[in-house]
Amino acid sequence: MNKTRIKVTIDGPSASGKSTVAKNLARKLSFMHLDTGAIYRAVAFFYKQKGLLDAADEELKSALSGFSYYFMGHGENKRHFLNEVEVTEDLRERSISDLSSRFSTKEFIRDFATSLQRSFAEDFNVVVEGRDTGSVVFPDAEIKFYLDADPIERAKRRFKELKAKHGYENLTEDEIEKDIHERDVRDLEREHSPLVCPDGAVKLDTTSMTIAQIVERLVEEVKKKAYSQPASSTYRFSYKGKKCSFVYILTKWIFGVYFKLFYRYKVVGLEHYKNNTPAIIAANHISLLDPPMLGCACPEVIHCLAKKALFKNRFVKWWLFKVNTYPVTGSSSDKEIMKKVLSLLLKGEKVLIFPEGTRGASMKVGELRKGLALFADRGNAKVIPTAVVGPEKALPKHKKLPKLFTKLTVAFGEPIYFSKILEQEKDKKRAREIFLKKVQEEIQSLIDKHQGE
Ligand code: C5P
Repeated sequence: MNKTRIKVTIDGPSASGKSTVAKNLARKLSFMHLDTGAIYRAVAFFYKQKGLLDAADEELKSALSGFSYYFMGHGENKRHFLNEVEVTEDLRERSISDLSSRFSTKEFIRDFATSLQRSFAEDFNVVVEGRDTGSVVFPDAEIKFYLDADPIERAKRRFKELKAKHGYENLTEDEIEKDIHERDVRDLEREHSPLVCPDGAVKLDTTSMTIAQIVERLVEEVKKKAYSQPASSTYRFSYKGKKCSFVYILTKWIFGVYFKLFYRYKVVGLEHYKNNTPAIIAANHISLLDPPMLGCACPEVIHCLAKKALFKNRFVKWWLFKVNTYPVTGSSSDKEIMKKVLSLLLKGEKVLIFPEGTRGASMKVGELRKGLALFADRGNAKVIPTAVVGPEKALPKHKKLPKLFTKLTVAFGEPIYFSKILEQEKDKKRAREIFLKKVQEEIQSLIDKHQGE
């Protein structure tokens, strides 16, 4: 399992609200949504199609070599395919609910479904929902939930869903209550991976909660749990609702006053910047003035990466940590920084990156490091191309003292989404190259536009 991917599991009995909640949560986090029940349903439908409902285990087992399942799309538009044929509607039928519940008690089917689930989730940040996803399939998941609800309320929910989707004129609520009860008993009492509340899971009774309320609670929990910042005095203060250190506020204030008094400092393109949404701010880098200029331009607390070499001096190191700056080696195999950035993005934070890797000598943007594409891809985050214009005159690389009263501009550009490029170019390596080129060109065109002003 790739540890830099983030897994959120949601387990619980039938009709506890898992599917809708998982879909919504995945959309909010920009994660993939994996509905593991659909795999069990597809297996049941497959056996039904093949006329194997009463077959012996050996025959059922060997038939699985002819089973292939995949899905495409998101949320309400998700479509399921069995051996290349769409079965989206068939899988939700009442008879398939019952059959999948029966077949899912068999160990070889659970093993088969488990390995499918792991391979689907391998390359993604994912919200997985099912019955054993936090206990058996992804016991190392970063965040686990267990949703439960009163059986009568669950029966009501499922009844409404079936009526709306399939009609079922003669169906009564009592029948559904009975169905659900039978499936609960099978799920809870089966020998192989029974339904349990996984270790470390956040348990929620959803009986009297709306879907929106449940999703809101889960998002809160994800933000709280996901790689929570080291509990230290560093984050006692807050700036516009976001926790930070007092040193961060003071530094921002001092630089803010400095830029306003001693330069013609302006920020443009703020319409491309949205508070409380995860994003990578990718900027050109030519001067030591760039980081504080960008820190002041962003209307909320942000995070920053800086070369490891800067952290040698003990005081500088202390200050950098207080202003949310983390050391980076520059290597794409730097797992620690990958994990840190992913966790920040997951919590809805913004991370400032200078993707050229080091300070450039001119206003011509150099080739961007591959790490930016990795962050954007694995973190499912948009990139805001950003230009810093003016410091090349105010404090160029070789100068020690700044030239005052010059023009300083920070320009935010329109966000670029890696996922959109991936829709056009399926080859990931090539998509990353296209993405990096696009970000590089956007930063350059922002520079060109504002340099001439
Ligand atoms: O969640 P859903 O109702 O679509 O699942 C269909 C059936 O598959 C359930 O009744 C349950 O018995 C089984 N299942 C399972 N383990 C999972 C997901 C579903 O046993 N992870």
